[in-house]
Amino acid sequence: MTDDQARTLHMIGNAHLDPVWLWRWQEGCAEAIGTCRAAMDRLEEGAGFVFSKGEAHIYAWIEELEPDLFEQIRHYVRQGRWVVVNGWWIQPDCNIPSGESVIRQALYGKRYFREKFGIDVPTGYNVDSFGHPGTFPMLLRHTGSTSYTFMRPNASELDLPGEIFRWRSPDGSEVTAFRIQGAYNTSKREMPLPEKTDLHFRKIAEAGHPFMCFYGVGNHGGAPTQANIAEIERRIAAGEALRFSDPQTFFEAVQDGDWPVFDDELQFHAVGCYAAASSLKTLNRKAESLLEQAEAAATLAARHAGVAYPRAEFERLWRILLFNQFHDTLGGTSLESACVDSERELGGVIHGAELALNAAVRHLARTIAPSGHPEDATMLLVNTNGQPAACLMEAEPWVDKDIVSKRIVVDEDGRPVPFQYADPHGKTTGLQRIVFPLEMPPYSWRMLRFAVDDSGERAPPVAFGAPTEARVFETAGYRLEIDRDGAIASLRGADGREIFASPGHRAILVHDPTDTWGHGGKSFGTEGEGMRLEQVRLIEDGRVRKVVEITCAARESRMVTSVVLPEDGEFPVELRVHLDWRERRTLLRLAYPFGAEAMECEVPGGWAARRMDGSEVPALRWVRVRTAGHEAVLVNESKYSFAARDGTVFLTAVRAPVYAHHDPIPVVEGARYRFMDQGEQSFSLWLKAGSHVSRKDAATLADTLNKPIIVTPHVSRSGTAAPTGGWLTLAAEGAQVSTLKMAEDGGGAVLRVWDLDGTGCEVGVDGAVATVRPHAIATLGLGEAGVTHLDGLERALPQADQAPGRPGVL
Ligand SMILES: [Zn+2]
Repeated sequence: MTDDQARTLHMIGNAHLDPVWLWRWQEGCAEAIGTCRAAMDRLEEGAGFVFSKGEAHIYAWIEELEPDLFEQIRHYVRQGRWVVVNGWWIQPDCNIPSGESVIRQALYGKRYFREKFGIDVPTGYNVDSFGHPGTFPMLLRHTGSTSYTFMRPNASELDLPGEIFRWRSPDGSEVTAFRIQGAYNTSKREMPLPEKTDLHFRKIAEAGHPFMCFYGVGNHGGAPTQANIAEIERRIAAGEALRFSDPQTFFEAVQDGDWPVFDDELQFHAVGCYAAASSLKTLNRKAESLLEQAEAAATLAARHAGVAYPRAEFERLWRILLFNQFHDTLGGTSLESACVDSERELGGVIHGAELALNAAVRHLARTIAPSGHPEDATMLLVNTNGQPAACLMEAEPWVDKDIVSKRIVVDEDGRPVPFQYADPHGKTTGLQRIVFPLEMPPYSWRMLRFAVDDSGERAPPVAFGAPTEARVFETAGYRLEIDRDGAIASLRGADGREIFASPGHRAILVHDPTDTWGHGGKSFGTEGEGMRLEQVRLIEDGRVRKVVEITCAARESRMVTSVVLPEDGEFPVELRVHLDWRERRTLLRLAYPFGAEAMECEVPGGWAARRMDGSEVPALRWVRVRTAGHEAVLVNESKYSFAARDGTVFLTAVRAPVYAHHDPIPVVEGARYRFMDQGEQSFSLWLKAGSHVSRKDAATLADTLNKPIIVTPHVSRSGTAAPTGGWLTLAAEGAQVSTLKMAEDGGGAVLRVWDLDGTGCEVGVDGAVATVRPHAIATLGLGEAGVTHLDGLERALPQADQAPGRPGVL
């Protein structure tokens, strides 16, 4: 870098556009068009101005609705004056989507820009997202980005070794990162551009390196103004060291600098966003999980049943999901009406994924030979996951309301499987819900029968669940004791060791006066009012499990927890929570006092060790804790917000701020407001403890809870395959297998895996072996050439480079 280059201020004309926030998406769509028109006017007025714009979704709107404008944009992209940045589908929340969702942001976004503009977009760019996990350099490098521009956390929230730095992931991948100073926009509320420019010149003088200065009206779109451009032109004419520029030009100028390394996550800002809007978080997880299940099943059906893979439909569904992972949508900070829009859209994704999943399962079922016992209720069980499954399986095989026959469950070899009757979901004569232990390898099927047999049991005629004064419940695997407040006074595994150091699953109502984002702090506190016990019922008491239902209440709210205690202590304890929440500006903590010395959380693309100082932190599907000689995991299906202090993990189950309320606007006593998360919601937690509970165990439990085994009647009359088998042979002991899909181009399949233990691992696929570096992600192509290493955009990696993250290699 020459002295001139080091003194240069890169003026970044942009217009941050939230397609949803304090407006619904229809207004965002209009503003996308208005903003790009305004930017186009500025480009046509003079020769110097350069405009930067990201997010494929915005371009797709314009392509569809304003084709002339789209052509003009293509013209200026070719001229180098309209610069596509970011390359993702949208600027998502970066803590709550799965790692696979992050990769799809890049996969579908970058494929769009390649197809429509013939360009690769190497500039990672999420200028408004509220925090960025430490795995992002790896995910960015894996999907063809070499730099990252962000703004939050700001300097008062996180000390960095410089405003330009090499951001490094645990696997060693690096990107050059830049933190925006001040704000990503200029508007009436922000610092005027002349002062902002002067401020940046002072920063250049202090730091001795170039900066980017962002200008242009934003949030509700807008674009740079004529006054902005005139100000910059005036300074250029006066010989000041600034230029119209863009992030790509800036990063090319600084790429050879000797920048300090930062190897942690970029957190924490707006910690209330991890728990706001339970419904959107739940639907997001369900949509992600079902899409993964549907893609895996459709891939197996394409390979083994010869049916077409619905690639275009999957891309359509992913695009809708990715749009709804936008930072103010999934962060829960949009209008109530916008949240309702998202619920509808995510419902559509879930339905679309279920249609594809059902079709794939039926095609696969057709390849399996008919049952030799057509008189029995046959259950075809399908594991669509890359992890093995071991769980208590619930099913309601149709028995034509036969209430008189005794029945047994038998496996493929006719051997009896222990089972018990459970509470059927319908309250009508003759429905028979059963539960039985089940183990399945990855990507496999089994066929069990619910057969009439005199040695069996008849379904109980009466309703389940008598109230009881008992407070101690025991199976061969677990012993549960409930305290006078309804918390778990004691929970012991088969080894006799207490899982909790003090009462667990304890509800705490914490006053939360913060705004929707949770602005103003990093912690919500862990103290507050408890709940009182109303009732205990023994719901089930059979050969494979006991189910104990605990009803607690506080103020206007009620929490019913069904504790599932398996007979086999290898299975996790399940806590099925049904919450009726009526509190306002109050959050519900659930406390799990593991006596933990260390905590780690699943994050997009891996896991992160987290402080235990009471700070609110985001986590995906699992939290794992360690204490001397003991480990435990807490797995969830829809929650993202946690804190830990004094050995206790706190799950933030629900927050109830005012919708779209931003400090410093006060919440006035007696005024009319709509509060979030009022009413009923359900969620399940799985709990497993022992001398060693590995990350692979955590990932396996998380997969089985979030992507449950499918059970369906076997009605095939034509297949030849055995009643049990696997569609893909997989050995992935140290790895999480997240995704199986067909490649975007060509006829091969794609398998995505992550190293879990930080030691590197080998993954065996149908006899071939691929190596995964420590902490790394690997995208494997399964084709006629065997197993090959790809990047996240499904491009072949050179054989010599299966470590795509090193600087300058890709
Ligand atoms: Zn934004």
